[in-house]
Amino acid sequence: MDVEKVLCMVGGSSETSYASNSTIPRKALLRIRPMLEEALAEIYRNLHPEKMTVADLGCASGPNTLLLLSEVIRIISNQCLKSGQQPPEMQFFLNDLCNNDFNNIFQSLDRIEESVRAEKVTIVVPYFVAGLPGSFYGRLLPRQSVHFFHSTFSLQWISQVPKDVGDIKNGMPLNKGNIYIGKTGPPLVGKLYQEQFRSDFSHFLKLRCDELVPCGQMVLSFLGRHKKDILDGEWSIIWGLLAESLDSMVREGLVEEKNMDTFNLPFYTPSAEEVEAIINLQGLFDIIHFQTFESNLDPFHNLDDDAVLDNVQSGANCAKVIRSVIESMIASHFGSTIVDDLFSRFATNVAKHLLKEKLKFPILALSLKKKE
Ligand code: SAH
Repeated sequence: MDVEKVLCMVGGSSETSYASNSTIPRKALLRIRPMLEEALAEIYRNLHPEKMTVADLGCASGPNTLLLLSEVIRIISNQCLKSGQQPPEMQFFLNDLCNNDFNNIFQSLDRIEESVRAEKVTIVVPYFVAGLPGSFYGRLLPRQSVHFFHSTFSLQWISQVPKDVGDIKNGMPLNKGNIYIGKTGPPLVGKLYQEQFRSDFSHFLKLRCDELVPCGQMVLSFLGRHKKDILDGEWSIIWGLLAESLDSMVREGLVEEKNMDTFNLPFYTPSAEEVEAIINLQGLFDIIHFQTFESNLDPFHNLDDDAVLDNVQSGANCAKVIRSVIESMIASHFGSTIVDDLFSRFATNVAKHLLKEKLKFPILALSLKKKE
């Protein structure tokens, strides 16, 4: 699988688009506001740049990247008003893979100012917005040119399915019956995924360190795993329910078995300890803050509310979210004809699972400062 070609959120703004199904990362972005505020204020106070460059990595095609831009404009405008200093000119880069629906974002750029004004803040910084296509596992910008990087819900996507996960051992695919690290899979699969993440994340840190100005900062949030056995991760359950849905289609002859055997997700959710160890081992960044909080897979389900929503409705809500994220990957591997049937089965499987427990998952959020 060529991840750069097939990973693409559903574009446009229809009911099934990513733009209409991106409430979960929006909630996460609102939660990390204090981290953003602290990092940006510190950069401004320490550097007082004449030109300030900010990049959002994995911006997708929904409203969250616009929310980020309005937050940054609000924070820097407030800092300028407070200090009475000349405002910097701001350059924003919106990054994602080449197939991303950048036009959908460009068409709604006017929402940035609406949202800053809604917070009753006067915009004093001139700003410029540009799309930046390409993988964040490669260099994106010139050396020492960026003041601040942000990324929400993107770094759990790894650069490739670990090479040996698709291996055939004694005539059997190594990860038979699974599409990710699954309970029925061998421990080696978990190890291979872990190694791929370690290598990708280290590389990501090195590249961003090269691109950041001295004292530049990053705020990153992505899907993680509570500290427990790699096989027991929350996403092993969620992707396990999708694997079951695919498997039922194999048994009914609607999906070819060999297609299922060769499908594995380029995805990994690390524990906070794993992430911290990689950052410390590399020694390029100081960790300023590191938080873990939970989210529910159903965007309409309040985490603190233990009332059980209609499980069938909730199953459908979860399936809509997952579909807006991986439909393109499914369609490119299995063909688009299976998509409706697959996600209707997935909704049913999720609904059944919800009778036993809610589907929650942890989010890791951290702010990092380039070491001097
Ligand atoms: N930040 C957005 C989108 C999250 S969805 C939000 O909060 O709503 C994750 C996005 O990361 C997708 O659009 C996907 O295409 C992008 N992505 C995944 N791997 C990437 C990579 N290697 N380089 C750039 N973007 C990537």
